[in-house]
Amino acid sequence: MTNDSQLTMSLNRQDLDQPASLDVCSTSSSELIERFVSDATVGFNFQSIEQASEAALQCRRCGLCETRTHVVFSRGNSDSKVMIIGEGPGQREDETGLPFVGKAGQLLDKILASVNIDQGQDVYICNVVKCRPPQNRVPVREEADACRPFLDAQIDLIMPKLVLLAGATAVQAVLQVKDPISRLRGKWFPFRNGAKVMPIFHPSYLLRNESREVGSPKWLMWQDIKEVRRALDALN
Ligand code: SF4
Repeated sequence: MTNDSQLTMSLNRQDLDQPASLDVCSTSSSELIERFVSDATVGFNFQSIEQASEAALQCRRCGLCETRTHVVFSRGNSDSKVMIIGEGPGQREDETGLPFVGKAGQLLDKILASVNIDQGQDVYICNVVKCRPPQNRVPVREEADACRPFLDAQIDLIMPKLVLLAGATAVQAVLQVKDPISRLRGKWFPFRNGAKVMPIFHPSYLLRNESREVGSPKWLMWQDIKEVRRALDALN
């Protein structure tokens, strides 16, 4: 029988050279699956998450290897049902080798804890690129593409049921769309391996927007994380 993963691998990625301005909300499941295909995985066949991590630690596929201190692969539980994908390591992450451990990461942990999701047990956290871009700039398309085999391996080996895309870079890299995150956040979309994916605000954006009033980014994040809790409960 053909599952979503096999279907994904058998499809062609001709239309993914540039992120499209796609109306995700009106796009069918099969169209979205087609957009998740990554030809970057050709030649990579990681058998375990440990093998992928070891390969990343040695990786020199893009220029970010020149300025990194540590490769930042992941933190959390590789058996969890929830995966959170962010943009890339910042200074603190580069120093420690762990994703989301600076101020934004601490806020993310608090947000998760507010709905009893434990950052060590209940989630697996990683980024689009595993090495820090200089001055914390946004990774360029070539860097995200070069690092894509590792992200694909993480998705396919962890096989999360719920995937949260934190911020515009993760949304563009994974969904291949340019739609503003303010329009996509809080909505579930079909994903490969039978999972579903939801864009959310990046916690660093929340740090710059202190208001908790109804309709503010923090309030919207609170709605989104409650929905994640509901979806997780429905799986259990
Ligand atoms: S960012 Fe990714 S592709 Fe680039 S050197 Fe680091 S691990 Fe390799």
